[in-house]
Amino acid sequence: MTIISVQNLTFEYVRTAEDGTTKSYRAIDDISFDIEAGSFVAIVGRNGSGKSTLAKTLNGLLVPTSGRILVKDMDTADDNLIWDIRSKVGMVFQNPDNQIVSSIVEDDVAFGPENLGVPPEEIRKRVDDALKAVGMYKHRLKGAHMLSGGQKQRIAIAGAIAMRPECIIFDEPTAMLDPKGREKVMEIIRNLNEEGITTILITHFMEEAAQADRIIVMKNGQIYSDSTPEELYSNREKIRGAGLEMPPAVDLRERIAERGIEMPETIMTEDDLVDYIVEQRR
Ligand code: ADP
Ligand code: MG
Repeated sequence: MTIISVQNLTFEYVRTAEDGTTKSYRAIDDISFDIEAGSFVAIVGRNGSGKSTLAKTLNGLLVPTSGRILVKDMDTADDNLIWDIRSKVGMVFQNPDNQIVSSIVEDDVAFGPENLGVPPEEIRKRVDDALKAVGMYKHRLKGAHMLSGGQKQRIAIAGAIAMRPECIIFDEPTAMLDPKGREKVMEIIRNLNEEGITTILITHFMEEAAQADRIIVMKNGQIYSDSTPEELYSNREKIRGAGLEMPPAVDLRERIAERGIEMPETIMTEDDLVDYIVEQRR
């Protein structure tokens, strides 16, 4: 079943110069694709390729210049449906500091459901569940300013979860985190997807993208490639053409293969590599 359908989407920013003249800039150029409910889709591409613009059109923060986006058959250009759409498709951004709106952790997580008009007892339950899901329940009464970047990002994710969305879009959620914070956030994202939430992850870490079922590569506002991670990472030319790099574990696997030890192409992350080697030695 399709949850989001992108149909001939074009998005242009209008820039106003100092002399008052306007000029439009096409950030997304006539793209179409569907997102399957429950799937885990990564979106990658160089800076400026249109990833964030695309993300914002998917939950109606930006309205298409032409073409249309349907979220569960609801058109994002229809003002009357915008709250329904936002409650179905949540969004987590890169900078955790810009996403915290209340000084106390649990108030921050409650903000979304309060805006949706959820009854107070139900909010309590949703906030507690969401904080537990991101491993931050014991910090619920803390001041948000006391938390590390990774913890703040987990609170932002809890805020999205508390809206009980069917899909969450993560726009480079780990870009500002240290390796440990990054790992924890990725674990949460994988768990949410396993529980059935459709997951769209924009990332510049190829190792993170490798964990998805499908990778869409953007280039100059268009779709340059749309395939499984295995297909994408077996094509060095394609990776190079999009200005991207191989995941470190794939590089390592190929270097080892050059020395005569072949390993399955399904190995794409460090964890896969470690598991495989340990398994072989047992
Ligand atoms: P990405 O997330 O892949 O780095 P963006 O979607 O942020 O790409 O940007 C795509 C293009 O649109 C870039 O060329 C960027 O400069 C331009 N752009 C982004 N936001 C705006 C804006 N608010 N006004 C004008 N141009 C913008
Ligand atoms: Mg971006």
